[in-house]
Amino acid sequence: MDRFVPTHHYQSTQPSGEPRAGPPPTSGELGVLIKRLRSQTEAIYRHSYDASTWLARGQTLAKLGYPELAVGDGWKAELLVSSTLNILISESATSAIALPAWKLGYRMGFWMSSAPEGGADAELRRRDEEQRDMLCQYLAQTQGKARRLMEENLCLWPELETGKYIRRRYPWMRKEYGRRDDPLVELINDEFSETGQACEVRRHAFGHGTKDTSDVLGIFATRDIAANDTILVDYTRTWGCNGPGTDGYAANLGGDQGCGNLFHPNAGLTIDLRWLRDAAGKDARCCLLVARMLLCCLEDGASHPLAHHLVARLTPNYSGQHVHYFSLLNDIALPNTFLRTQTSIDIFANRAYDTWVLFTIQARIFNNTCGNPMAECLMPLFSLFNHSCEPNVLWGMGVDHRTVTVRAARDVKEGEQLFVEYDGFMADETLEVRRRKLGKWLEGPCACTRCMREEQEKQQASERVDEKIEGAGWDISKGQLPVFPEDQLKLKN
Ligand SMILES: [Zn+2]
Ligand SMILES: [Zn+2]
Repeated sequence: MDRFVPTHHYQSTQPSGEPRAGPPPTSGELGVLIKRLRSQTEAIYRHSYDASTWLARGQTLAKLGYPELAVGDGWKAELLVSSTLNILISESATSAIALPAWKLGYRMGFWMSSAPEGGADAELRRRDEEQRDMLCQYLAQTQGKARRLMEENLCLWPELETGKYIRRRYPWMRKEYGRRDDPLVELINDEFSETGQACEVRRHAFGHGTKDTSDVLGIFATRDIAANDTILVDYTRTWGCNGPGTDGYAANLGGDQGCGNLFHPNAGLTIDLRWLRDAAGKDARCCLLVARMLLCCLEDGASHPLAHHLVARLTPNYSGQHVHYFSLLNDIALPNTFLRTQTSIDIFANRAYDTWVLFTIQARIFNNTCGNPMAECLMPLFSLFNHSCEPNVLWGMGVDHRTVTVRAARDVKEGEQLFVEYDGFMADETLEVRRRKLGKWLEGPCACTRCMREEQEKQQASERVDEKIEGAGWDISKGQLPVFPEDQLKLKN
């Protein structure tokens, strides 16, 4: 948003066919809106605590078709207004006699005493009260507009504070945040060698293609590995567990008996995240995982969260038109509240933690996690394995929710790529069902050895059926329907 990007790079995240706040912009309007977006972003970082700047940019984002980002800016505008209004209202209730009144410093979000030292000037007090009333009215109006902006972009409102969007790469993101550079690949290989030296990451994992394939990574065996041997024990700092909340209640949020480890919702010994677990409900594990990832970026002093090695190594799946839900609470309010109250980040003034950055991190995290209804983990090394429907390695998560162990499913030769199965419940599904389910992670249909073999078998079977039709002299185009024994029909499924 703070970088020049040609108009044709902008692609809305608004799902087609969903209600939107207004008609999509014409190509002429698009140029104007994009210019406006840049200048409004600059205004935000000049006057970070001015609700009207956030509101204005949120309205532009809504027109451009970024509902999740419009809601993010609306939420920040609303937060600024309501905290100011709360002070004003409590001031006017308690200071009817003892003014000084307070005025909003111009676009600064702080308050200045307007009455002179020891001032008892009645006229001045009356003017201050008038100004305060006017300010209250203005803020209430802004608050109303911010709420409307959020509601208009949460397409399931008022039933749920939830909207829909398509995950896309935001056009203003810097190129260097979108690919794995050589120092990062080296760092990952150092991590692999520390865990047992059985495998490493390599570029061009599926060979050199016509497009640049250097960012296609895969994990390869660096020596012969016998069936059942442990290849890797991966341990993570970024995970989330629906463990006990502030009341110590150990039942799983889904209603079943859950994790009873009182420390699991926390990060280390010092950061209590149980409030996040309580606020997020059954999706707490995902919110805790995002919070822990943000914490890693801060603890490690990353120049930008997208440059942190744990975030930078992950790829999102931006292909296709898959519609995702976003929640005002879990995807916007809670991560921002966590940053605001438990870290040193100023969510209004620090552009490195803008809403689009949070959504980019989330898209990368949730394309790479493993877990169960109780825990969600982002493993630093395990997440880099590619998928196969006939994997040569098996994996299992430890009861600590932080460790994944990878074993050889069969004898593996040095130099072979190591594959895992992304969805452990998929093995018995048909080719079509597997490919449909894998669309969540893969760009294009799965091209693993099993899928390619089954595709070829289907193709051959269908050719055999076509030959029979021709041999029998039927002309299907004239409505002559052949009848086959049941077993042959099955081939067509
Ligand atoms: Zn747990
Ligand atoms: Zn496959």
